[in-house]
Amino acid sequence: MTSYSTSTAANYDRTGDLAILLGHAMQCEECRDRLLAAPERVTLGRKISAEQRERLLHLSNEDFENSQSLAAAAGLSLQELREGVDHPRARLRHL
Ligand SMILES: [Zn+2]
Repeated sequence: MTSYSTSTAANYDRTGDLAILLGHAMQCEECRDRLLAAPERVTLGRKISAEQRERLLHLSNEDFENSQSLAAAAGLSLQELREGVDHPRARLRHL
C-alpha cells in the first residue's frame, strides 16, 4: 500500500495509443478531419512518442485511403494498425 512501483506505469494496454487513434480515424470521418486539421490537439495526453507525433503532423487524407499506406505513413506495422482498428476503444471513443 506504500507505493506504486514503476512497472505500474508500464503496464498499459499492449495496443499502442497511436494505433488506436488511427484505427478510430480510419472508421470515423469526423475524427479524421479533426486529426488532419489539428494533430497536436488530438495527440495531447496520449502515449505517443515524439517521432510518432512528428509523423502524425505530416499525415494527409491520401494516407487514409487504405490501411497499408496509413501504416507506412504512421510508422506502424500493418498488424499493429489492425489491432488498433479492432480495439474496443477505437470503436467506441471519438478522438
Ligand atoms: Zn470519431
